[in-house]
Amino acid sequence: MSDRPKYDAIIIGAGIIGANLGFEMSKAGYKTLNIDKLPAAGYGSTANSCAIIRTHYSTWAGVVMAYEGFHYWKDWEDYLEVGDERGVAGFVQCGAVFVGSHGGHMEKVLPLFDEIGIPYEVLDTEQLAERLPGIDTGEHAPPKRPDDDAFWEDPASQITSAVHTPIAGYVTDPQLATHNLQRAAEAKGGEFMFNAEVAGIRTDAGRVAGVDLADGTSIDASIVINVAGPHSFVINEMAGVAESMGIKTRALRHEVHHVPSPRGLDFEKDGMLVGDDDLGTYFRPEVGNNILVGSQDPECDPQIWVQNPDEFDRSITEDQWRAQVLRLARRLPSLGVPSERKGVVDLYDVSDDWIPIYDKTDLDGFYVAIGTSGNQFKNSHIAAYCMTRLIAAVESGHDHDSDPVRVKMPYTGFNLDMGVFSRNREINEASSFSVLG
Ligand SMILES: Cc1cc2nc3c(=O)[nH]c(=O)nc-3n(C[C@H](O)[C@H](O)[C@H](O)COP(=O)(O)OP(=O)(O)OC[C@H]3O[C@@H](n4cnc5c(N)ncnc54)[C@H](O)[C@@H]3O)c2cc1C
Repeated sequence: MSDRPKYDAIIIGAGIIGANLGFEMSKAGYKTLNIDKLPAAGYGSTANSCAIIRTHYSTWAGVVMAYEGFHYWKDWEDYLEVGDERGVAGFVQCGAVFVGSHGGHMEKVLPLFDEIGIPYEVLDTEQLAERLPGIDTGEHAPPKRPDDDAFWEDPASQITSAVHTPIAGYVTDPQLATHNLQRAAEAKGGEFMFNAEVAGIRTDAGRVAGVDLADGTSIDASIVINVAGPHSFVINEMAGVAESMGIKTRALRHEVHHVPSPRGLDFEKDGMLVGDDDLGTYFRPEVGNNILVGSQDPECDPQIWVQNPDEFDRSITEDQWRAQVLRLARRLPSLGVPSERKGVVDLYDVSDDWIPIYDKTDLDGFYVAIGTSGNQFKNSHIAAYCMTRLIAAVESGHDHDSDPVRVKMPYTGFNLDMGVFSRNREINEASSFSVLG
């Protein structure tokens, strides 16, 4: 009997990125096993993702990846190649409008849109009011909190330009999308193990050899990939690679609130994704004529870094609810502020420069797809596609650290230098250092 391990690769995590990696690697011929400590695919931070698809990133690589990602969502059923007994996740292409440029984000983005060929239109005040029913076009920057008297002042000026992109929208059910990927991976021979916690990374002669589970089981594989979302730093510590990584990851708490659309406004049908740099929020239509509103983490908002990703406060706080919903009410003045606070609280896996780490590590055979910084749901497929090619190259002896792997994007044909996502890159100063990436 051969003592070759049953699996070529163990993927720690079955969130949107881990499940997608299971699919891409299985398609490429690897025998994969996704291990997740939760009971099903997409039950981690993916479950609470706003699943917004947009191309507004601060770097060339960020825009290219998101443009590529959009095409996958458009072709979702074809991409999966297989059905799912639970149905397939929907993509709603509602378009996006980005309002204000307090942090200078749009000045970085528009030249990239021109270079890459992303369609967009600049709207003046009147066009903005026409396109986004119910909107107040007052200019409020810089973002403030409601306990600051200045928050309540009448705007001294109007938003004079906003940027509309038709290539944007949202996925209706991020957990279902992840289940779709599980089924797609299984159809190619990938396996999934749930309710199983990785408690140790095993090595042999300086190379990864598999994982130990909390129940004492050991599973062998010569490739192990950390796709543990907000637990990424915990797994890196287990593997002994945390110290040697130039760019680190940390877990940041984030609240998203859920409110009914203003009376008389069908925001689900007529609304768009809105990136509101002027007030420091983003919001999008949600099924049932509701609105989801999150924060762009403006400077005035406290950042809550979480030391233990298994223990954090999952309740919506009065302070942040007021900040986000009242900011939304400044933009949509007919919004009624509900007395019952609804929404979700989850963790971003944030890298030092809010750009992901898609890379090998100093432990041979141990790879990372982490640091997704609240903005990589949209890119799961292209990230998984690139990681699969990076792993194949490194496993065949390529020195990715000195000669970064380049991957040709399947839809757009651009060549992406994977060195941009290196664990040892310099901090990327072009980044927004926020969820905008
Ligand atoms: C509130 C919120 C809103 C967001 N909105 C957007 C958005 O609008 N658009 C966008 O593009 N991105 C968004 N994001 C980011 C996006 O959702 C994430 O980048 C993406 O879901 C990360 O997927 P993942 O597979 O890496 O992580 P996860 O979904 O967190 O999966 C990691 C998995 O690893 C498992 N795991 C951890 N440790 C272990 C262990 N020891 N053993 C076994 N399993 C383990 C966990 O159980 C978990 O299921 C948002 C994120 C949040 C939190």
